[in-house]
Amino acid sequence: MSFVTHLECANCGKQFTAGQPHNLCTDCQRPLWVRYDLDAVKSAFPRERLAKRPADLWRYRELLPYADSANVVSLGETMTPILSTPRLGAELGLGNLLFKDESRLPTGSFKARGMAMAITMANEFGIWRVACPTAGNAGGAMAAYASRAGMESYVFMPDDTPVINMKETHLAGATVVQVNGLINDCGRLVGEGREPMGWFDLSTLKEPYRIEGKKTMGLELAEQLDWELPDVILYPTGGGTGLVGMWKAFAELEAIGWLPHGKRPRMISCQSEGCAPVVSAYAAGEKHAPPFENAHTVASGLRVPVAVGDFMILNAVRESGGSAVTAPESCIEEWMTRLAKLEGLAICPETAICMGVLDQLLAKGEIQPSERVLVFNTGGAMKYPELIEIPSRHHDLGQAPDWKAIAES
Ligand SMILES: *Cc1c(COP(=O)(O)O)cnc(C)c1O
Repeated sequence: MSFVTHLECANCGKQFTAGQPHNLCTDCQRPLWVRYDLDAVKSAFPRERLAKRPADLWRYRELLPYADSANVVSLGETMTPILSTPRLGAELGLGNLLFKDESRLPTGSFKARGMAMAITMANEFGIWRVACPTAGNAGGAMAAYASRAGMESYVFMPDDTPVINMKETHLAGATVVQVNGLINDCGRLVGEGREPMGWFDLSTLKEPYRIEGKKTMGLELAEQLDWELPDVILYPTGGGTGLVGMWKAFAELEAIGWLPHGKRPRMISCQSEGCAPVVSAYAAGEKHAPPFENAHTVASGLRVPVAVGDFMILNAVRESGGSAVTAPESCIEEWMTRLAKLEGLAICPETAICMGVLDQLLAKGEIQPSERVLVFNTGGAMKYPELIEIPSRHHDLGQAPDWKAIAES
C-alpha cells in the first residue's frame, strides 16, 4: 500500500484517481502532482526508522508512489555523496562549497532517479511498451530500466544528440530513431505514436512519477545534511523535473515535521546563454516561458527550448527567493577543467554552467562568502568525450626520453 491520495493538476487543480496511468491534465494539458496523506505519513514514519534501511532512494518508501514493493525496478540507485571542495572554495572565497555527485547513479546521470520511479509505476500498471524523446541522458536511463523490467522501449533523438547517448540507448535495448529536428519535434512524434504504437509516453513531466523519483534528491540531501538544508542550491535546468521535485521534497519534509530549522534554500535555476527560456521568463516576470529561438548548447541536458512545466520551475524559484541566471558556453571547458584539476571531480557541462553562474552571483554579492552552497553534478564528464581535448605528446621507444620536454609541457 502507499500513502498516495490522488493526483492533482499543477495548473488548474483538477483531481485524478491514483492507481492508474496518467499523462498530462485532460483539461489544460499541464503536469500532475502526486499527492500524499502527509498526516498519515507523519504518524507512520518516524525519522529514526531510516537508520536501518539500505542506502538507496527506496529508503523513503512512505513518500514514494508505488503500492507494492514487489513492483520496484532497480539497478542499485545508491545514495550519492556530498563532497566538500575546500581547495576550490578557497579560490572562490566560499567557506562551505558542496557538490552532490549524481554521476555515480546507474547509466551515469541523475536521470536514473526519475526513470527508476516512472518504470516502477509503469510496471505496477502492467505497461509493456514505453517511449520518450531525449537530446541526452534520459533515453539511456529509460532504456536500461525498461529492459530491466522486461519492457520494450522506443527513443526519439535529434540528429545532433551526442553519439554516446545514442549508443548507450541502443545498447540498453531501445529502438533508437534519429530525427532531423529538435527535442520538441521528437516529443511530438512520441505523442503521435501513442495510438498506433500503443506505448506509454514517458516524456519529461508528461507523466507524474519522474518528479517523484527526482524528489529523492531533496529527501536525500536533507538527510545527509542532518536535516539542515543549505542556504543556496544551484541546479542546471532543462525540463526542470529535478528543481521542481526537490522543492516538492522540502515542502513534504516540512509537512511531516522533519525540518526543525524551517529554513529552505534559495533555488538558483542555471541555464546556458544559448538556451535560456526559464531565465528569460524569470527576468520578464512571466508565468510561462515562450519558446527559445535557435536553441544551442553543448550541455545537451539543457537544450530544452520549451518546457511544459515552465510555470512550476518559475514558481519554485520565486517562492524560494532564488533566481534564474545564465552563463556563457565559453565557461564550460574552463570549469570542467578547473574542477577536475583542483578537486578531482569530473563534472558534466551542465554543472559547469552552474559554476559560471556561481561565479557571477559571488561577484555581485548575491551569495555571501559565509553561506553554505550546494551545486548539483547531474552527470559524469565521461559522457562528453568530444569536449575533452588532449594536447598531443608522444614518446617513440626508439629514442631516449626527453624528460625536460615532458616536465615542461
Ligand atoms: C536532463 C539533464 C539536466 C536537466 O535536468 P532537468 O531536471 O530536466 O531540468 C541537467 N543535467 C544533465 C546531465 C541532464 O542529463
